[in-house]
Amino acid sequence: MRNYAEITARVKDLDMPVALLGTIHDYPIHRIRLESSANAPRYVLVTGGVHGDEPAGVAATLQFLERDNTELLKQFAFVVIPCVNPYGYVHNTRENREGVDINRAFETEDVAEVDIVKKAIAQRITTGMSLLQPQFSLAIDFHEDYDATGFYLYEGKRDEQYIGSELATAAKATGPIDAEDSGEDAPGIAEGVYKVASAWGTQGLAPYLLHFHSEHVIISETPTIWPLEQRVALHLSLLDTALKKI
Ligand SMILES: [Zn+2]
Repeated sequence: MRNYAEITARVKDLDMPVALLGTIHDYPIHRIRLESSANAPRYVLVTGGVHGDEPAGVAATLQFLERDNTELLKQFAFVVIPCVNPYGYVHNTRENREGVDINRAFETEDVAEVDIVKKAIAQRITTGMSLLQPQFSLAIDFHEDYDATGFYLYEGKRDEQYIGSELATAAKATGPIDAEDSGEDAPGIAEGVYKVASAWGTQGLAPYLLHFHSEHVIISETPTIWPLEQRVALHLSLLDTALKKI
């Protein structure tokens, strides 16, 4: 059992606006907005813990929130949901308490976590924003892989001007690319980089976001066998590199 009270305490310790999006079996799902008063920033969504047995994603979102992002906030505003599947996080299960893989459930209406995330994302962030404009310039979702020996990533981009090759090159400073061809039925873009496949539909969080809310999505995958700090560093390396390229 992992201690979710520790996650809640770290979130509350941030000097930032925190919204309680909903409660899953007594565990709160938080959303933190990280922004300065700068004009017209580009919005970035950062999510972790969709799969409860992938703790590095949750750790990466918290480490991101706790570090100094002053420079980034001149250009970007962030919406962060550190743990989408708190029950799974506590019990170390990929699925939620009902046995549902949340990342395959975004086309369904009866999964509480999906409902909470969909409602939170559908709220327009700024009142002046056009309804036709996707509200996020980038969404990154942190995941892990128990079978992988190195990292890999999926990328989806509406204009198909992919940056995955540059992301993977920069991230190699933190650890090797996975030797296996890990992309699940997804076309390759570069070594260790796979396209968010249209065949997936919108059942996963990232494809759902790409279709409805974001111009660009990245799914970051770290190997569970690496030390936690290295996995967190890899996730943040991909995020930081992407922010330099968009
Ligand atoms: Zn996952």
